[in-house]
Amino acid sequence: MNKLFRMVILGAPGSGKGTISSRIVRDFGLKHLSSGDLLRAQVINKTELGIAAQKYMKAGKLVPDDVMVNLIASELAGLKTSPWLLDGFPRTRPQAEAVHQHEKLDLVLSLEVPDEVIIDRIKGRWTHLPSGRIYHTEFNPPQVSGVDDVTGEQLVQREDDKPESVKQRLDQYAVNTGPLKGFYRDLGILQEFHGTESNEIWPRVHNYLKSHLTALSGPF
Ligand code: AMP
Repeated sequence: MNKLFRMVILGAPGSGKGTISSRIVRDFGLKHLSSGDLLRAQVINKTELGIAAQKYMKAGKLVPDDVMVNLIASELAGLKTSPWLLDGFPRTRPQAEAVHQHEKLDLVLSLEVPDEVIIDRIKGRWTHLPSGRIYHTEFNPPQVSGVDDVTGEQLVQREDDKPESVKQRLDQYAVNTGPLKGFYRDLGILQEFHGTESNEIWPRVHNYLKSHLTALSGPF
């Protein structure tokens, strides 16, 4: 029997969600729907929804649930015949409950990377503001400490990358995601993957998906 696989990925900022999502899409052929990308497209096209959403996005706030639910529901309605991976949505329990009315999910995959690991990783980032070039003291250091390789100009640590700001974002994520995970745990579809790096977590995600997608839709 051929059944379409529908899943959500959850993960804190800096948890490697982007990396894992792109590998899932690459290896399993799901259609990738990112709520942030969908919103940014609406903003660029200056749609009514985009104009309304923009002020929340600029302020670093969540766009209201009813706006998000309408946007995602209309996208999903156009994807009745393909398997998909939803990324960035739902972000709150009411969003999860609303989407559950229309679509039954097969899996909610949650990346569980300890806060200290994320804070440590992000705090090593240094940026050359005029070009946007990013370095990392450990993983990708500049040739000369504190200086951009190309221009020789000073590197800075962005406000958002400072440990206090990262911690604040992680706390906010935990507050929003707790009830969401509870909802999916009760439905029996939450699967948590613990680890510190994408390369460590990915093989386990891959194996899990391989066995579950194969069981649902035949061998890949
Ligand atoms: P992202 O690219 O996922 O970080 O999303 C960028 C911004 O879009 C967020 O900071 C929110 O303002 C908004 N956004 C994206 N997804 C959602 C969602 N599910 N609920 C509310 N706001 C969202």
